Amino acid sequence: MKIKDTVNKHYPKAKTGEEITNSYLSLLEKEYKSDLKKMLFATSVCSDDVNVSTDFRKVLSRPFTMGGLGGLPFSGFTGMVAFSHHIPDGGDAFIFYGPHIGITDDGELGRMRRIGQARLTNSCGALMLALERFQKSDEEPTYVPQNVYYDQQQIHLEHSLMPFKHEILHANNPKKAITDFTYVAIDKQIKQLVKMSIKEFSCERIFLLGGVIINTSEEFNDYVDVRNFDVINTKDSNNIESVSILETEAFKNL
Ligand SMILES: [Zn+2]
Repeated sequence: MKIKDTVNKHYPKAKTGEEITNSYLSLLEKEYKSDLKKMLFATSVCSDDVNVSTDFRKVLSRPFTMGGLGGLPFSGFTGMVAFSHHIPDGGDAFIFYGPHIGITDDGELGRMRRIGQARLTNSCGALMLALERFQKSDEEPTYVPQNVYYDQQQIHLEHSLMPFKHEILHANNPKKAITDFTYVAIDKQIKQLVKMSIKEFSCERIFLLGGVIINTSEEFNDYVDVRNFDVINTKDSNNIESVSILETEAFKNL
């Protein structure tokens, strides 16, 4: 079976990262008349090196990196405000976000064959670890104090997914389910951060593109299952309520 068919069996609408990149950049340029040279690009995807090939970094330069383990926007409110202050004059903001999941050549989700390796490993490793902990414990995981300091992102990721634990564990495919619920968490957090910092954006438009990245073996393209595309007008405050930020000079100069 071709890898496209294998991916589409699980994600019928998924397209290659290249197709998604080309179609959305063309949409932004032609439909929205956005000047890509003045666009500031940000990502909230997992730290995993495997994700570099699937996003827009090949075309758009200078990504502002918001994501950490699992793809949650760990740079938070401060990061979003800093991003909002860095957009070139007359430009737009564009944020690409989402979790990732590996797929083997045989169609198994949650694992993949990485570049230069013969063996299979977990992808997303952080989400598969969270799932394993959920499966082992009926209660909220307890953490060794030193890990709270040295493993903050993983712990925060697991906490963010706790509300979905029951549904994840009882899903037909818990690996797919934990990835889908991570998408829900990232989408919610990104939109909340945009809402909180909306008045900080000097540009008029923020483009949000969210989806699940599907990592395949080295010889194949990676895929993206797009879940959301939003255009937010920063000057129209009807839909988005701004939250006032700390009135300090340092914060304003991020
Ligand atoms: Zn990951």
